[in-house]
Amino acid sequence: MIDLRSDTVTTPDEQMREAARDAPVGDDVYHEDPTVNKLQSTAADVLGTEAALFVPSGTMGNQVAARTHTERGQEVLCEREGHVYRWELGGLVQHAQLQPRTIDAGPRGAITPEQVRAGYVEGDGHRPGTGLLALENTHNARGGTALGVERIATAAAAAHERDVPVHLDGARLFNAAVARGCDAAAFVEHVDSVMCCLSKGLGAPVGSVLAGSEAFIDRARRTRKLMGGGMRQAGMVAAPALEALSNRERLAVDHRRAERLAAGLDRVDGFTARDPETNIVLVETDRPAEAVLEACEREGLLGVPFDDHLVRFCTHLDVSDEEIDGAIRAAERAASG
Ligand SMILES: *Cc1c(COP(=O)(O)O)cnc(C)c1O
Repeated sequence: MIDLRSDTVTTPDEQMREAARDAPVGDDVYHEDPTVNKLQSTAADVLGTEAALFVPSGTMGNQVAARTHTERGQEVLCEREGHVYRWELGGLVQHAQLQPRTIDAGPRGAITPEQVRAGYVEGDGHRPGTGLLALENTHNARGGTALGVERIATAAAAAHERDVPVHLDGARLFNAAVARGCDAAAFVEHVDSVMCCLSKGLGAPVGSVLAGSEAFIDRARRTRKLMGGGMRQAGMVAAPALEALSNRERLAVDHRRAERLAAGLDRVDGFTARDPETNIVLVETDRPAEAVLEACEREGLLGVPFDDHLVRFCTHLDVSDEEIDGAIRAAERAASG
């Protein structure tokens, strides 16, 4: 089976397994796990922030950030197709008691400064006030679009003009950095916090990091504890996550494979592949997405439905060039069968 459902399906390699086995550990709730501490300081260095916090998932990272930045009852400005709004079980409402105000940022999910200004609400006796702007890069549901630094900087500046903090959902920020040819830190310097998944394209079995100022991370640590995310000998999972951080540059390989996959799938009858910007390939299908995916599965290829006639395929660490070609052939058989 060629599994292109998500870049989360990778399994840890030998080096990661060894790192987990050999990791020095301690109780991280007491700040005493040296491997977690090393992961956090390395992540902060890479992202150019004062501090970072290891969290079990990207979802928890985003939710901890939203809760830490805001007061209950405020509004959060977020993109209509944004992960934090669409795919986290309404956590903005459930955990942070925020009222989402969505922005339709179009096919690439690039929120403009004008949209931020238009969406901003001044708190008064009637209106809750805007407490947070949430950005996403790469933008998952929009097809892994990699926004440039300028896009992030200008949207964030529009929020900062009104003293609204900015959180960046950078689940795949390193994909964005590779695609745009810059350091991840170039994006992060414009925002107040960032979440990066280590368990996606980088290949860690578990974990994400939330990064920001020392003061913000101190408060975020308390929020993480509140949500039940205080972990003990977490060095066992932080060690492979640390290994994963060195897989950043190889994401370029996934991007090349996504291009090759998109080109091949676009030639399949009834498939129209969008040009990928990173490791995510969106394919518009003439037949319903569910039926297409069932046919693909019978031929040994897995993807996920993204809409009634839209399917997502992801390239990742555990697929080779041969498997990309195999995936294209499987889709051809599925279409003709
Ligand atoms: C996957 C993802 C998340 C959540 O990460 P999990 O580790 O799956 O909870 C958040 N934001 C985006 C954009 C994602 O793609």
